[in-house]
Amino acid sequence: MSESAPGGSTLFSLSGMSSPVEIVDQVISQAVRLNASDILLEPQEKEVLVRMRVDGVLQSFGVMPFGSYDQVLSRVKVLGNMDVTENRKPQESKIRFEVDGRPYVLRAAVVSTNFGQMAALRVLDMPDFSDFSQLGMWTEMAEKIKRNISGRYGLFLVCGPTGSGKTTTVHSCLRYLNSGEVNIMTLEDPIEYVVPGINQIEVGEEVGLDFVSGLRTILRLNPDVIFVGEIRDAATAKIAIQASLTGHLVISTIHGRNSVGALYRLVDLGVDKYMVNYALRAIVSQRLMRRVCDHCKEIYTPTPEDVEIYVKEKGSGPGQLIHGRGCELCNKTRYHGRVGIFEMLELDDTVRSLVFTGAGETEFKQELSLRGFRGLTAEGLRMVDEGTTSVKEFVRTMYDAR
Ligand SMILES: [Zn+2]
Repeated sequence: MSESAPGGSTLFSLSGMSSPVEIVDQVISQAVRLNASDILLEPQEKEVLVRMRVDGVLQSFGVMPFGSYDQVLSRVKVLGNMDVTENRKPQESKIRFEVDGRPYVLRAAVVSTNFGQMAALRVLDMPDFSDFSQLGMWTEMAEKIKRNISGRYGLFLVCGPTGSGKTTTVHSCLRYLNSGEVNIMTLEDPIEYVVPGINQIEVGEEVGLDFVSGLRTILRLNPDVIFVGEIRDAATAKIAIQASLTGHLVISTIHGRNSVGALYRLVDLGVDKYMVNYALRAIVSQRLMRRVCDHCKEIYTPTPEDVEIYVKEKGSGPGQLIHGRGCELCNKTRYHGRVGIFEMLELDDTVRSLVFTGAGETEFKQELSLRGFRGLTAEGLRMVDEGTTSVKEFVRTMYDAR
């Protein structure tokens, strides 16, 4: 990934004439227009680096001198109702901001680093969760998900690394179930999107509530559907399973490289295999891949590495491959926009017997492929074959997943 600073000098050469208010305005507006998910203001030894995460990848956008930065940081703190005089302890808050007439919410965090206070702003866009197609999910997959969450009991899991679009999938599920006839309660750390008609509860150290005590509380409030932000320890796993076995649909996310890995994560957390088989309905595993920029895409001759990857994953070499050349439109990143890829493991008798015998990932893979299961790897390579993304991007999302 190139770390160029396109337009960087123009963006921040305004320090002489612009007020800190205007600079913060500029930076946030620029981020929103570029569809950036994060803005980082990072003090270095001599100046402050400004970077933005666009399509999941950090890009440099310029530097600013410490003199202006102090005022810019104060402005960020004012916008977030933070203590302007506090410069040692970490602070966190939300900023409401309007860009081009549309309201946006940013989650701001300020923390002291060795060269000064660093600020990170996450743009919490308000996507339209009205159907599942937002990340380019196929209708067939959306139908499968709807079928699995319509049962109104059991555990439904979504897994994938940070930034793989799990929140979007979960909220599409909640939106689908939000008919007005069910009590939907969530435990989120933090609440990213406010959804009317759903009872959302924030958990976290600050609020003094964790997933386990939150779940115990929720169970007394007569819920039908429960969303637990993440199953990351044994206690949460156990109570989530219990809830799902007593007439509730429990939706949650869990760590795992793929759906089989996520399933075994539950077992590793101490959930009995029998309970997993009984409670779990399905696991969706997903990734977000950057689309090659339509404006500068071109066919190229596959490199030896490309061939190696194809032979390893598919057993044969690649056909025609494309990549981006880099242009003004994609800000020289070679990519523009993203697309989700998904796999779904539904628990049927075959899967249950594999779980019960503790079958390894290879055994699972063999058994599932016999039955036409399309895994993430196959879906990812299909995106490459179709010319939607590049082999490089496939490798980045599948092998380097955080
Ligand atoms: Zn381009």
